[in-house]
Amino acid sequence: MKQLPAATVRLLSSSQIITSVVSVVKELIENSLDAGATSVDVKLENYGFDKIEVRDNGEGIKAVDAPVMAMKYYTSKINSHEDLENLTTYGFRGEALGSICCIAEVLITTRTAADNFSTQYVLDGSGHILSQKPSHLGQGTTVTALRLFKNLPVRKQFYSTAKKCKDEIKKIQDLLMSFGILKPDLRIVFVHNKSF
Ligand code: ADP
Ligand code: MG
Repeated sequence: MKQLPAATVRLLSSSQIITSVVSVVKELIENSLDAGATSVDVKLENYGFDKIEVRDNGEGIKAVDAPVMAMKYYTSKINSHEDLENLTTYGFRGEALGSICCIAEVLITTRTAADNFSTQYVLDGSGHILSQKPSHLGQGTTVTALRLFKNLPVRKQFYSTAKKCKDEIKKIQDLLMSFGILKPDLRIVFVHNKSF
């Protein structure tokens, strides 16, 4: 018996957290709601396998936090397990963005009320910043995940039939509907392949 390499452990644990397109969308919307967003736009291309994009008008991510925003177990939501007694957020484990970086290519564009312009960060597979540049978006955060499951053939294979892909879109619509019922004041827009 031998121990698996760290990168393999990372990929396997990430694939337990991000199991489907709908799980990416769920994690990203929960982050938007935790950031106080009142408006969320979800866009998919090719059922989400080419591109998943979630844009919000929430509080944004401070530049000082950007280097750790997608590092696993970094969170702004709790400080220790005692805080689990009084959770007010959906997130608290600090695993979602890091896991998504491990199984897709991730870009995060964000701007806080204190910033003069937004910044787009390109992340690598372990959630480190590869590059950054100024961009033109308003306050809030846009997370873009490209080429989902490119490194996980077993997961991709699961979606090899049109039926499985269509079922996934239905699950996303149901998820968005539940958030809509839960938060009647939230504006949610869903676009698949640019069609309304
Ligand atoms: P968690 O939600 O469990 O804290 P995540 O990996 O989902 O972990 O996110 C890591 C951190 O990145 C969050 O704690 C938050 O500070 C920041 N973050 C992620 N998404 C957003 C967003 N849409 N708006 C503002 N901050 C965000
Ligand atoms: Mg989260």
